[in-house]
Amino acid sequence: MQPSKDYDAIVIGSGSVGTPTALFLAEAGIRTLVIDRLASPGQGSNKRAIGGLRATHSDPAKIRLCLRSLDIFRSWKERRGDDIEWHQGGYSYVAYRPEEEKTLKELLVIQQSFGLNIRWHDRGELQEIIPGINPLGLIGGTLSPDDGHASPLRTAEAFYFHALKAGAEFHFNERVVGLVVGGGRVRGLRTDRGGYAADIVINAAGAWASEVGKFAGLDIPVTPDQHEGAVTEAVAPFLEPMVVDIRPAPGTANYYFYQHATGQVIFCITPNPSLWGYDDRETSGFLPMVARRMVGLVPRLGNLRVRRTWRGLYPMTPDGFPIVGRVGEVEGLLLAVGMCGQGFMLGPGVGELIVRIVQKELTPQDEEVLSYLSPYREFKGREKLQ
Ligand SMILES: Cc1cc2nc3c(=O)[nH]c(=O)nc-3n(C[C@H](O)[C@H](O)[C@H](O)COP(=O)(O)OP(=O)(O)OC[C@H]3O[C@@H](n4cnc5c(N)ncnc54)[C@H](O)[C@@H]3O)c2cc1C
Repeated sequence: MQPSKDYDAIVIGSGSVGTPTALFLAEAGIRTLVIDRLASPGQGSNKRAIGGLRATHSDPAKIRLCLRSLDIFRSWKERRGDDIEWHQGGYSYVAYRPEEEKTLKELLVIQQSFGLNIRWHDRGELQEIIPGINPLGLIGGTLSPDDGHASPLRTAEAFYFHALKAGAEFHFNERVVGLVVGGGRVRGLRTDRGGYAADIVINAAGAWASEVGKFAGLDIPVTPDQHEGAVTEAVAPFLEPMVVDIRPAPGTANYYFYQHATGQVIFCITPNPSLWGYDDRETSGFLPMVARRMVGLVPRLGNLRVRRTWRGLYPMTPDGFPIVGRVGEVEGLLLAVGMCGQGFMLGPGVGELIVRIVQKELTPQDEEVLSYLSPYREFKGREKLQ
């Protein structure tokens, strides 16, 4: 099929990043096509996320992007009308050992220097913030009350319908199989159904980003990293914040959970060592491992029955930071990939940044953010709060 030159920009992937990016591109008057191999928006890693949204990171780039994302999530219902189940319950990191106390207190200094609303709470205060928390050995912890959570699927749907309204086009059940590159720049792409021409192509293919990169001869260091989540039956509300315990234990680096407004407790664990690959079948090892840790932290959780578990993929980078920016070797090709465990919270902030790259309207602050997320960095650092 002959490529048709109907689009200014094509986004590969209608996930946590691609869908808001399409919305903001279309609203900026850029003729946008989104292509996803799955049947509807958010069906890749997006719908596997448990919905946590925080700006409390350890580096300026993610802090700035997520502060902007939080503004968008927080004001969504008022500004756009849809209920995305935003709830401002905060995030609370707990410390039982001097190691975690030190890490969290060091991070506080950075986080507060970026104006984040976060502070340390002693043992007594933390027992009020997390009712039923095991007091044995508890030192204290942080609370960032402006963080929260929302529904990844409802959000994907809201971004999608507003993007359609703004004029973006979406092709589902269509797989990108090649990029068309000529004269040092991108000219369009090929799919299993045909071809499309555009001067801008945005790789937002999540855990599959490196496969798409290969179409242009690029080696993008994004690797699928398997993570499991679960949801319990609903019980009366007792817990406000997302609780995060970063103590390592055999098989796990950390775990986190919160109670949804409808009463269910939703939780996740970070396996250690990481489980690489595209396998998204849930395992029998996850629940006993995470349940033991959660019940140790908040014993009353032992009364809850788990309703469902699932597994999904983090698009991991070697240093735990996203890869966002222009590809030097192929003009017009942009990367918005490698979101690791935070693509849902980064999505809207990254989407707006992509629009400013396309429109050549970067602010000095954007340039600084992009220097941290550059595809050409050395990938030697290590994210402290993954
Ligand atoms: C258990 C679990 C819990 C999580 N909890 C959170 C959380 O609380 N908060 C948070 O922020 N993040 C969380 N995450 C991480 C989050 O889900 C990801 O970081 C995020 O979804 C990645 O967004 P993305 O847009 O890069 O990828 P995706 O959402 O996966 O979107 C990429 C899309 O590209 C499409 N695609 C790929 N290749 C092609 C191709 N060749 N042609 C056409 N389409 C293609 C895919 O079908 C997919 O829809 C969690 C993840 C898991 C697994």
